[in-house]
Amino acid sequence: MSMITRVSASYDASQARTRELEAELCRDPGRFRVLTGDRPTGSLHVGHLFGTLANRVRLQDLGVDVMVLVADYQTITDRESPASLPADVLGLIADYLAVGIDPGRATIFAHSQVEALNQLMLPFLSLVSVAEVSRNPTVKDPVHQAADILFCHANLVPVGSDQLPHIELTRMIARRFNDRYSPGRPYFPEPDGLLSDAPLILGMDGGKMSKSRGNAIALAASEDETAQLIRTARTDTERQITYEPERRPEISNLVLLAALCLERSPAGGAGLKRLLTDALNERLRPLRQRRRELADDPSYLSGVLAAGTDRAREIAAATLSDVRELMHNDY
Ligand code: ATP
Ligand code: MG
Repeated sequence: MSMITRVSASYDASQARTRELEAELCRDPGRFRVLTGDRPTGSLHVGHLFGTLANRVRLQDLGVDVMVLVADYQTITDRESPASLPADVLGLIADYLAVGIDPGRATIFAHSQVEALNQLMLPFLSLVSVAEVSRNPTVKDPVHQAADILFCHANLVPVGSDQLPHIELTRMIARRFNDRYSPGRPYFPEPDGLLSDAPLILGMDGGKMSKSRGNAIALAASEDETAQLIRTARTDTERQITYEPERRPEISNLVLLAALCLERSPAGGAGLKRLLTDALNERLRPLRQRRRELADDPSYLSGVLAAGTDRAREIAAATLSDVRELMHNDY
């Protein structure tokens, strides 16, 4: 079988599996623990809101146990100076809380501070070959991510289709661990990827909206900054406004964003930029208000992170202790 058919066959299977999982999530949300997270590399933006944050809040509100990893260790490789990291981490937590992640129900924790999680990497590394790791097309250190998922026995990981291979590797590590050290009584769950049907939001330059491209509308932006960014948005020369994502990606992206804010299906309309500015500012107003209040209280944000990190530490310590016992390393 060619690589392409294999990839798309597994994509179809993952889509079918996602439909089953969605039904199961409604029936029995308490059965699931979700692991998600972000790199603290700058303000989250409107692409994150519609692409992933809204889904996390939905899962949390269904009653799923949501673990949110602040992936500070994953900023090491592409950061020249880590001095802005503390501010970026607190900014990320303000973004999370402002969009509705509830620290009373979800667990927000700092990767670098959960030592037992990181300790799991060593036994996991022994379960994969260098060739297997280097075949993984997207992730620099997929074993790292397997530890992030498995340390808390997460069984559900919201992903884009490009991240399916890394879930596959995590499943393989879980399977190998279970076969070798806990035969007949699987210790780690093999996590499922939950494919999102979230739209890909473009930035104001027509490329993917991205923290690092300078084309994003940050959740933390002011209403004036938002208006200014939308004014500069790239469009085309046709006068009519239509929703044709393939043929007219830039205009369609603005129409889509307005529709997402207004909870309508995308349709054409006059005065698009003004309409979008109003719709987006209105949609983000309560969130931004909350975010400003949160940002004014850094000790509260640090407290949220410390409490989440304590919980993650307890979970990781219990897992590491089980792993040592199963590996007969408990002397
Ligand atoms: P960077 O520029 O540092 O890569 P980014 O803005 O691309 O940052 P990531 O942290 O790489 O953001 O993205 C995290 C997740 O957020 C993605 O896996 C995806 O689910 C979602 N996401 C990011 N950008 C968008 C977007 N423009 N549209 C929809 N979803 C997005
Ligand atoms: Mg990115």
